[in-house]
Order: sequence, then structure tokens, then C-alpha cells
Amino acid sequence: MSFERTELVEEARRSGTLAGLPSGHFIGGRFVASVSGAEMDSFDPGSGVPFAKVAAGDARDIGLAVAAARAALSGPWSRLTPAARGEILMRASHLLRAQAERFSVVETLDSGKLLTEAEGDVGGVVRCLAYYAGAADKLHGDSVPLGPDYLGVTIEEPVGVVAQIVPWNYPLSTAARGIAPALAAGCTLVVKPAEQTPFTTLMLAELLHEAGLPEGVLNIVAGSGSEAGAALVAHPGIDHITFTGSVATGQRVMRAAADHVTRLQLELGGKSPIVLMADCEIGPAVEGVIGAIYENAGQICSAGSRLIVEDTIAEEVLDRLVSRVEAMTLGHGLSDAQIGPINSPQQLARIDAHVERARAAGNRILTGGGVVAPEECGGGWFYRPTIILADGLDDPLVQEEIFGPVLTVQIVSGLEEAIAAANATSYALVAGIYTRDHAQAWRFARAVDAGQVYINEFFTGGVAMPFGGNRQSGFGRAKGMAGLRSYCKLKSVVARL
Ligand code: NAD
Repeated sequence: MSFERTELVEEARRSGTLAGLPSGHFIGGRFVASVSGAEMDSFDPGSGVPFAKVAAGDARDIGLAVAAARAALSGPWSRLTPAARGEILMRASHLLRAQAERFSVVETLDSGKLLTEAEGDVGGVVRCLAYYAGAADKLHGDSVPLGPDYLGVTIEEPVGVVAQIVPWNYPLSTAARGIAPALAAGCTLVVKPAEQTPFTTLMLAELLHEAGLPEGVLNIVAGSGSEAGAALVAHPGIDHITFTGSVATGQRVMRAAADHVTRLQLELGGKSPIVLMADCEIGPAVEGVIGAIYENAGQICSAGSRLIVEDTIAEEVLDRLVSRVEAMTLGHGLSDAQIGPINSPQQLARIDAHVERARAAGNRILTGGGVVAPEECGGGWFYRPTIILADGLDDPLVQEEIFGPVLTVQIVSGLEEAIAAANATSYALVAGIYTRDHAQAWRFARAVDAGQVYINEFFTGGVAMPFGGNRQSGFGRAKGMAGLRSYCKLKSVVARL
């Protein structure tokens, strides 16, 4: 452990907070208070107590941020070369690497996630900034063969002012996978982080300015969804919305976008299958399942929350999973626990309601099931890692996203039944399969409806692989070169020679 990491963890443990956290919105290149003066508390989910205050924005703060972003769109930013935009992103990547420990401890305090998970997220953002730094000057169009008398070309232009709405489960990484490609493409932005987790996004904006971003190019307004979020997506000065969050809110955002015919990209929920075929290597597959559902205490849109296991290995797999899960320790993200807290009491109650409904319906709970008493876990918001047998494809356990450390089990006989089970929900975000038979794996990959398919390792690929959903998991793609093109509008130009 580095000296700085130890110091930061000590400070956070001793005082329950860190000195020097931002407290205002970031608008026009500086931190500012809300027009109304309103503030809100930020809670540490690991202890259940507030650790800082931050500005709570409304439509007036959104108005100022959109005006700053619109002005910046035609300012010095518009005259920078793509390579110069890339240099700013690369400097930001280096600066973030140097401050990674501070960003990680803040992310743990704000979201609750384990420090090792937060460090993984921050490392991913260092890489994301570097990836889009390198991509900024490779965003070229095509020349189109129209015969000897014409010249046809396509040009990728920045889409304009981007509004990004971010949820609380991966605050910094989700914000960065919108901010970095939008900046690489030459856009300006107004970002609204989740009300539960604003700090690392505010810190990223300050860091990008230190790296040379002109004022007004990136603006952050903290605040609630109903006040700041709704005002942002309804604003006529927005050209493109990137929304990440629940299906219900995504539908509201889509309706608001219709009023101004604003371009829209939705990254919504999931209920993703993780299939274990009889010929898989059981040890690594069981570890794959543990990571797929218990990382970030299961609060992951792409969690492998539905285990689909072939009948001949089901007993062995479930025995191994149960003993593995029962040995896992819960605790504050800054401790050496293996599962951290749930982000809010509201989310904790939602998870509990799903499991209690299943219990009442007679579903067999193989392990877990229940909120941990606060005195057992230092006052924070914790849910026991849980495994439950599903009862048929219509079972709400199969159909509904729980967004917590709850694994649903479906037992099948053979690949065709596994594919049918995998495709049986209204979501289509990710899907995974463990098998030694690559022909079988590829048949699954072709037949499953999902934005991404993982073979023999879940959550693999990183920033270079496009990411997004189909059906109720949304549409549009983040990450990769597809993520960069999300922030461009394509212009066709034809000349008669
Ligand atoms: P949520 O929909 O409640 O909130 C998400 C964001 O929307 C927050 O910033 C919130 O303030 C804002 N918001 C709320 N009402 C709004 C409105 N009327 N207009 C504009 N913005 C509004 O979701 P959540 O509970 O914060 O996040 C969990 C959900 O997000 C899960 O369903 C999860 O699957 C999904 N998610 C999806 C992805 C993905 O990439 N597909 C990634 C992470 C999370």
C-alpha cells in the first residue's frame, strides 16, 4: 500500500470524510454555488451517515450551464485541432493517474464500493481518457465512389451540446465514458451526476480544466433527477442526450427528448444470463459467477444476475457457490471486506422487497436473504449475498432487475434450452457462457440477444469494446470507436466536377 493511500484511508476513517472536497457546481470553468443557495447531504453508505454537503441545482443552474456550453461550442474550443483536443485528454489521463488514490477513496466514501473496486474504476478511466485522446484525430469520414463526374465525401462533425445523466453505481466510469468521447469529437457538455454520488465527476471536471480544457466546455450540475435532471433533458439548447439509469426514468427522458426532437442514447437496466454448460471448467466458472453478481454488491447494470446451469453439473456448481458465498465478508469499502454496502436505504429496501416476495411465493433460498442489522456492520446499509432458485421463466425473479447481490438460478438441459432461457426477458444487455466447446459458445453468441457476449470470462473487453443494450436495455453504444461516433453527426458532401 502506498504512503498516500494509507494517509487518505486513515484520514477518511478518522474523520469520516476528506478535506478539500468540491461543494459547488462546475460551470464556466469554476465552482459556483446554486442560484437558490440550496445544498444537499452526501452519505457514506458504509456507515449510513452524511460525510459532506454539495450544491443542489435546479432549472436556473441548468440554464447557466447550458448557456456556458453553447457559448463554448463556438469559442476557442471550436478552433482547436483534433490532435490538440487529444493532447488535453492525454494530459488529463496522466493527471488522473497521479491522483488516482484520492479519486478512489472519494469514490468509496460516496458510492460505498470497495476501495479495490474504486481503484479498478479509476484505472479504467485513466485508460478511457487515453483511448479517446488517441482516437480524437482518427475520426475520419469516407470518400464515396460516384463515377468520374462527382466527388462524394462524408464528414464527421461534433453533434453539439451534450447532456449526460449519470447513475450512482459507477459514478466516475459512467461519466467518463460519455465525457471523453464527446470531448474527443469536439462537443461541449452539461453533466448531471446522480444526487447520491456527485464528487468524483466534479473532481474530473476540475482536472480536465487543469489539463487545458477551455472554460464552459465541460459543465457539471449536481442535483436531483426531478429538479436538475428533468430541466436538463427538457432544455431546448441540448443537441444530444446520453442517459444511463433505470427503464422508468429512461422512458421519461425519451418523452422529454421528443419535444425538441433531441438525439438520444439510452443505457438502461439488465437481467443478464451467465450460462454454465456441463463441459465447462467448473472452478473458473464458479469464480466467474461470483464476480459477475457480487462485484459492487450486485449494483451493476450488466451483472450476471441469472445463473443458467446445465442439470448434470447443477448440484456441484450450487454447492460450490453456496460455500464460497457463505465465506464472504461484508464491510465498509475502506476495510478489507469482500462485499461492500448498498448505495442507499431506498435501494436496500427495494432489494429486500424482491427477495421477500420470492420467499412468500415459495422460492427456495439456498443462502442469504435479508438485510444485515446495522449494529452488525458499523451502521451501514448491507444486504446478505443471496442465491435463490427460480420457478419457471415467468418468475419475477427471472424477469425483474433486482440491482443487488441476489443470484437467481435456472436449471436447463442442453444448449437450446439455455438459449431460450437466456432470451426470455425483456432485457438484452450482456450474456455470458462458460464451456470448453467453442462451437457451442459461438452458437450461443449468435443466438442470444445482447449488446455484448462474454465467453469464458465475464465483464471482459475494457474501453475498446463497444457497450450498450437492445430492447428494454436501451439503444446506442458507449465505448470503442462506436462510442465516439455517438457524439458525431454525419454530413455528406457531393461535388459536380
Ligand atoms: P435512476 O433512473 O433512478 O436515476 C438515474 C439518473 O437519472 C440519476 O442521475 C437521476 O437523478 C436521474 N433522473 C431521475 N429522474 C429524472 C428525470 N425525470 N429526468 C432526468 N433525469 C432524471 O436510476 P438509478 O437507480 O440511479 O440507477 C440504477 C439503474 O441504472 C438500473 O436500472 C441500472 O441497470 C441502470 N444502469 C444502466 C447502465 C447501462 O450502461 N446500461 C449502467 C449503470 C446503471
